[in-house]
Amino acid sequence: MLKIVKFGGTSLASAEQFAKVKEIILADKARRYVVVSAPGKRFSDDIKVTDLLLTCFRLRSEEESFDEPFEKIRQRFREIIADLGLDLSLEADFDEFKKRIVRGASQAYIASRGEYFNAKIMAAYLGFPFIEAAEGIIFDEDGRLQEEQTNEKLGALMKKHPRAVIPGFYGATENGDVRIFSRGGSDITGSLAARAVKADVYENWTDVSGFLMADPRIVEKPRAIQVVTYRELRELSYMGASVLHEDAIFPVRREGIPINIRNTNAPEDDGTMIVEKADTSEGIVTGISGKKGLGAIYIEKSMMNNELGFGRRVLSVLEDRKISFEHLPSGIDTLTVVADRTALVGHENEIIHALQKAVSPDRIHLVEDLCLIAVVGRGMAGSPGVAARLFTALAEEKINIRMIDQGSSELNIIVALNEADYEKGIRAIYRAFAS
Ligand code: ASP
Repeated sequence: MLKIVKFGGTSLASAEQFAKVKEIILADKARRYVVVSAPGKRFSDDIKVTDLLLTCFRLRSEEESFDEPFEKIRQRFREIIADLGLDLSLEADFDEFKKRIVRGASQAYIASRGEYFNAKIMAAYLGFPFIEAAEGIIFDEDGRLQEEQTNEKLGALMKKHPRAVIPGFYGATENGDVRIFSRGGSDITGSLAARAVKADVYENWTDVSGFLMADPRIVEKPRAIQVVTYRELRELSYMGASVLHEDAIFPVRREGIPINIRNTNAPEDDGTMIVEKADTSEGIVTGISGKKGLGAIYIEKSMMNNELGFGRRVLSVLEDRKISFEHLPSGIDTLTVVADRTALVGHENEIIHALQKAVSPDRIHLVEDLCLIAVVGRGMAGSPGVAARLFTALAEEKINIRMIDQGSSELNIIVALNEADYEKGIRAIYRAFAS
């Protein structure tokens, strides 16, 4: 059994958290490769090290002093090292780092140092070797990950050591120029490492015990999701359920490696397993998510179905204005384009005018007060009565459904509601399916 364990920023925010991490790693011999983020927030108003680093970069670019954020970063690492009682000093590395910033180090290089220093500390604390991510995670000049090359190089580096610590979030070009992933990208590093050594499980340790069936800010104590498939997760995270970086799924998925989301502060919880395939024993609905801030363009034209190219012309009007659509439900003589509200606001007249010119509709109007709620579940396919239960739950709360969209996979049903009904709608749906 071989496990990759990745720890997020809050799991590494202080020496106390480091101690929990060590205990978790030592509790299971299979946990041999450790990927770390930079220290995150210790309390809600705290600042993540990565954000402080980005502030250093910004100030340097504006030719202002970056001493204040820089010393804060140095102090945070100093404190962790001292509190862990390690015989390690990063003072000389910090002096050198400061000089590099002054000399014009790139944004990616500066941002990557949170992971770099944290991994150095973790390696010393565990007594594991340190693997330099810049040698194993390969990007091209434009910052695109070279996945196959990475798989080979990282795999070769890892196989040299039975155990090791790897900094997340960054890699380098073949010339050694550091490049980073987008924010939260240490999740991707963990996934690449899991693929490179064909791990049995990729454990992603964070500060929640996995995914919940609904947003806990809306539903009180929602049920935890034990097992979710990759496809379900994609549907749920598209709507805003974010625990894991979206791109972290691909490397492990292609090798059939499950991801286990775990809680560093509650290691006894099983967390959520993300798998390729699962039986449906958990219930019909796996999760409920949604998003606010949407608008829609309703277009009506009789005999629309006979008009070749109608949909294409509508969409090219949007494409010309760089508006991407979220959904496209249609009726016999109607077509609705759902899009982000911010893309529509302020451009209403222009969009209507352009559509009138392009497709001469009988009627056209815009609304800008919608939200979407997605009910997602592998158990929904072929299971009669799901829609009835969903609509009854909303009807009983006197919530009007503005639009309905069921994906062809039968993995989800999406409803659009008035934005004001968002929270009430989610609670009603949760009650209908969670019991
Ligand atoms: N430290 C980086 C961030 O704050 C990357 C990560 O934590 O995954 O986004």
